Amino acid sequence: MKKVSVFGATGSIGQSTLDLIGRGSFDVVALTGGANIVQLAADARRLHADVAVTAFPDKLDELRAALAGSGVEAAAGQAALEDAADRPADWVMSAIVGSAGLVPGLRALRHGTTLALANKESLVCAGPLLMAEARAHGATILPVDSEHSAVFQALVGEEMGAVEGITITASGGGLRDWPLERLRDATPEQAGTHPNWDMGQRITIDSASMFNKAMELIETHEFFGTAPERIQAVIHPQSLVHALVQFRDGALMAHLGAADMRHAIGYALNWPERLDLPVSRLDLAEVATLEFRKPDLERYPALSLAHAVMGRGGLAGAVFNAAKEAALDLFMARMIRFTDMAPLVETVLDRLEAQGRLEADTITLDMVLETDGLARVTAREAATRMTA
Ligand code: NDP
Repeated sequence: MKKVSVFGATGSIGQSTLDLIGRGSFDVVALTGGANIVQLAADARRLHADVAVTAFPDKLDELRAALAGSGVEAAAGQAALEDAADRPADWVMSAIVGSAGLVPGLRALRHGTTLALANKESLVCAGPLLMAEARAHGATILPVDSEHSAVFQALVGEEMGAVEGITITASGGGLRDWPLERLRDATPEQAGTHPNWDMGQRITIDSASMFNKAMELIETHEFFGTAPERIQAVIHPQSLVHALVQFRDGALMAHLGAADMRHAIGYALNWPERLDLPVSRLDLAEVATLEFRKPDLERYPALSLAHAVMGRGGLAGAVFNAAKEAALDLFMARMIRFTDMAPLVETVLDRLEAQGRLEADTITLDMVLETDGLARVTAREAATRMTA
């Protein structure tokens, strides 16, 4: 029986993953979560996990109590997360949100496992490190973001040399049709509502600002090794075409599917096989229209920042990811405006570049963690000046 672990099991991706695991026949090794102990314990009991881990040590007693008599081990804290990643598993889902997902993912790769990677932050802040670790240990990384899963599927049996370009699609987010001048007044609640996808609040706001798409452009560059100028995002309001690959002979391969993350998760779970998945099928006659348009870079400045980050290389991705997370925290705390986020991230990138902090030929985990901390501090300082 396939041994599986799910990091970030209580989140949106984690719950979709457990839904699929619960329908199949799997040996569940570790489930991890954060604050949602009730969900973590219920899933660990239901799926007979070996261990359940909360990231937060002050939640250990609550987790122990919730698991009493179940035979499931309870653990807490960063070291426990890393220990869980060291437990042998054939397939590991990396779905912790934010850069906290990096270390458990790296640890799992060191055991030569197949890592289903939803945590895009890992690739953005430490792409070369992650890919090198996978190569060194014979591990496989499978993309779980719907766009990257779509590209991955379009590339099965193809040579990367035959690829001219990759297009990932973007819904445009919840504020897509707002007049530009109103955007500065958008609240976290308004930005946190999505027209097509049901996701966590942070990623939904990142979708409205297109910081999420910016992360995905960088993710595409890191995962597929495609040059920045060959990667683009287009707005596709229906969110049914997830990505397209342009080949040198003129063929354009598109991947279509319902807006349901269980497709990309299930593809990774069953890979290299394709098995039945409980996702709805598209009726093209009913869909009738698929629209595409170029994103307005004034509305979505994060996209230009992504191309600048890919061009700069080195530790620019680590700075971008941390500054973007800090900017989102500040926006959610109502300390900066929606339209302040991109200028703030740009300021942090420029400031750290001027200090020579983006340069690095080889990226190590220590460098990434140090840069992450520095970028967050710089973002908070810059925000104070912005709002003063
Ligand atoms: P959620 O916020 O819904 O879930 C995040 C998970 O991480 C939860 O299990 C949460 O625990 C846990 N967590 C929170 N903080 C920490 C921490 N400090 N250390 C360890 N674990 C922590 O996020 P999503 O499921 O939406 O996203 C997960 C990842 O997948 C992200 O990287 C996102 O970008 C990516 N992704 C998400 C998509 C989606 O449709 N949602 C689509 C494609 C990619 P708890 O809730 O118990 O506190």
